[in-house]
Amino acid sequence: MKKYTHAWLAMMAMKRIEKAKIPERQKDDAKALITWFKNYRDFVISGSWYPDSVFKDMSTSHIVKYRPDDGEATPSFRIMPPTLQLYQYGLRSDLYGKPFFLEKKHNLCDRCESFTESLIDSFKILTMENEGSPIVPSNNHIAMRFFILSHYIADCHMPLHCDARSFANDNDVHAFIEEIWDKQVQNSYYVDDDNNRFFYDPEGYPLKQPEMSELMEYVEDELEKREFVWDWGRGCNNTWDYMSGISQYSYLMAYRLIPADHVPSDITRQLYRESDAFKEHFFEYSKVIFADAVESIAKVWLHAWVRYRDWFRGTELAYYKAQESAADKDLKKANKIINDYPSGKETQSAKVMTAKEAVKAKQAAYDSAIASGKNADKASEALGKARTRLTELTEKLAALEAEYKEAVSSLENLKALLVAAKVQVKRKQAEIKKYEDKNSGI
Ligand SMILES: [Zn+2]
Repeated sequence: MKKYTHAWLAMMAMKRIEKAKIPERQKDDAKALITWFKNYRDFVISGSWYPDSVFKDMSTSHIVKYRPDDGEATPSFRIMPPTLQLYQYGLRSDLYGKPFFLEKKHNLCDRCESFTESLIDSFKILTMENEGSPIVPSNNHIAMRFFILSHYIADCHMPLHCDARSFANDNDVHAFIEEIWDKQVQNSYYVDDDNNRFFYDPEGYPLKQPEMSELMEYVEDELEKREFVWDWGRGCNNTWDYMSGISQYSYLMAYRLIPADHVPSDITRQLYRESDAFKEHFFEYSKVIFADAVESIAKVWLHAWVRYRDWFRGTELAYYKAQESAADKDLKKANKIINDYPSGKETQSAKVMTAKEAVKAKQAAYDSAIASGKNADKASEALGKARTRLTELTEKLAALEAEYKEAVSSLENLKALLVAAKVQVKRKQAEIKKYEDKNSGI
């Protein structure tokens, strides 16, 4: 697909997340994603075109190629959400259920998966790092990566990206198809060439020209109308699985777009334009491809965002729980000091009394030694030790009393802190209760 097609598909995905009826579980998050996105949409053309203009990884990461195989292998076609038209067309395809061969050297699905994960990671880093941290990613950067991801997802819906037949001869039917699409986008919306972005309508989406192509009208209409299915499909658990399923049905669509009776090396633009496949079905199939591409981009984006938001909610709750547990510990400690004080004081006072007696006795022994003119060195040493011991024990007793007074005076405050921490935890738990639906399929 070409530059404006990619950018437009990304904008339509954003619009779908805003306009479609999103399931209750993800509704708030979808709203928050759109609010976030609206600040960064100006990068949509450069971002969604970055893989072609800068990365140039077309020969490995923009494709995943299948061909029919006459071997014995049992084909395993994925079960996709029923609202996907590519899937519905695929189920009725001649090649559905027949063995296929998948070339191993391409990694479009891996690219989509790794981009999705890195988006989530970037948001986590953005959340955890302090403002001004040298390693913090900017929102602009993350938005760029959303648009870059949309490119790979969209490419998977271009049937010829999933078809091992090569149409890249001098006539290049692949480019011919993509040129038709891109021209239609450019003729349906106002593009701000000077700033490499779309002109926007009051809602912030590409501004429509008075005479739009039927294809674009269809997609605009469909993105509001089509039911938004949150699940990836049966047996699909993540971006990789889902994209792998898309690539299978995109491969089946390739054989509708250019049926098997065409010889790939012979087909010219002229021949293709005059073929029944083109004349009768090209725009019908284009609608399927575009509407589903918008659907898939919206789905992968929203899943990534919701996973980040779930992590964020979990992190917040863990923080409040840690506060509660620290407050509980402080209160228990103060209570223990207060409870232990009477017996501690008694023990400690008795020790002081004994030490006082000892000092008295040592003092008497010393005095007597001096009076009798004997060597008083040992008695002096014993008296010194007894005095030191008395000082130590007296200080300990004073410390015990100070600790007790401190505990008594802080008790009410510590109780209040614990109550406040408990309230915070309860409030957070209530807030995220609706996100704890185990059947949400995230
Ligand atoms: Zn591409």
